[in-house]
Amino acid sequence: MNGSSAALAPKRLEGKVAIITGGASGIGESTVRLFVRHGAKVVVADVQDKLGKSLCDELGAKDAVSYVHCDVTSDVDVENAVNFAVTKYGKLDIMYNNAGIAGKVYPTILDSDNEDFKRVLDINVYGAFLGAKHAARVMIPAKRGVILFTASIASACCGESPHAYTASKHAVVGLMKNLCVELGQYGIRINAISPCGMATPLLRNTMGLEKSAIEEVLCASAVLKGVVPEAEDVAEAALYLSGDEAKYVSGLNLMVDGGYSTTNQSFK
Ligand code: NAD
Repeated sequence: MNGSSAALAPKRLEGKVAIITGGASGIGESTVRLFVRHGAKVVVADVQDKLGKSLCDELGAKDAVSYVHCDVTSDVDVENAVNFAVTKYGKLDIMYNNAGIAGKVYPTILDSDNEDFKRVLDINVYGAFLGAKHAARVMIPAKRGVILFTASIASACCGESPHAYTASKHAVVGLMKNLCVELGQYGIRINAISPCGMATPLLRNTMGLEKSAIEEVLCASAVLKGVVPEAEDVAEAALYLSGDEAKYVSGLNLMVDGGYSTTNQSFK
């Protein structure tokens, strides 16, 4: 969308307040940009302070976006991030638990490092749990809210991602479904988004390749040809699930994978 049509487009999150964990980079960063463009007040919660602050400086017109240091594995940090949003912007409408890591790739389970396994589960699952828990603390009395998770195509397809990563993303979807049942009575909607591989820093570090080389690999194995998957595609899904357009959508694991998971239950 060019500058003038973006200015004319309706703002779908006007008046909403969101926290985006892992908002300093990749999918989170794209979502921060899109949410701010759609009128939301956004708290960027991340451990990359320099990146997060410079993103907020860039987008910070009218105090629309703020950075908080938040390690999602710290109960205190996550509680502070939620309290910060409520104190600064008056409420919390959207909690997007997006922060995650891939962990290391090992040839077999026998080579796998136990601590690495625990670290991936800690950030991807426990971090998502804490985000949901502290969001629920303020959303239950408000009797409204949206909790989103970034899962992954690894929540549906197995065999390529490291064991810890696949296990963590299956767990995120399980958590999402459980919360959907528990929190629906309070008007809180819970959904997940499952992207395929995208050339963000996460995958660049894991594959040790440049953006263009990764995109070449991704496009070669894609079901949907002629389109390169990008972080912005996930941000658009998050926008839909966060907005009132999705007011009756809950318990969904929305695949943003060009149809890959419908035909391939295993990468190999
Ligand atoms: P990224 O590395 O660009 O961004 C991840 C962000 O999470 C970073 O800013 C990082 O600092 C932050 N983070 C990591 N550990 C944290 C912690 N303990 N506390 C707070 N923040 C922390 O990667 P991305 O691709 O944008 O990943 C975002 C999410 O998307 C992750 O959950 C990832 O598993 C998922 N995902 C990515 C892909 C892909 O191919 N890139 C595919 C499917 C799912």
